[in-house]
Amino acid sequence: MTYVITSACVGCLDAACLEACPIDCILGPVAPEVLAAIPRSERGLRLPGVQLFIHPDECIDCGACAAVCPAGAILHEDDLPPGADDLVRARAYFRA
Ligand code: SF4
Ligand code: SF4
Repeated sequence: MTYVITSACVGCLDAACLEACPIDCILGPVAPEVLAAIPRSERGLRLPGVQLFIHPDECIDCGACAAVCPAGAILHEDDLPPGADDLVRARAYFRA
């Protein structure tokens, strides 16, 4: 089982989830060191459309990231709404 980052992450990118994940299985199209160099308050504006993803095959289902996400963007896969494509998008991101 895995937790999943939904599109509610777009515009946040405060990266609290990155710091909370014990196995570093959260990644995105922007390298963590690049993200860290941009002030948190500017990330949503300077990186439009960007979100982070949880590697579904590596996540150990601990929930630490969901507990700290200020946007409520991280859900357990069982709690995704019917028809949500967030897990499909995460799998596609890591296959690419
Ligand atoms: S804490 Fe939540 S909204 Fe912020 S980057 Fe992580 S998943 Fe996205
Ligand atoms: S549930 Fe745990 S292991 Fe999975 S992404 Fe979140 S913090 Fe990392």
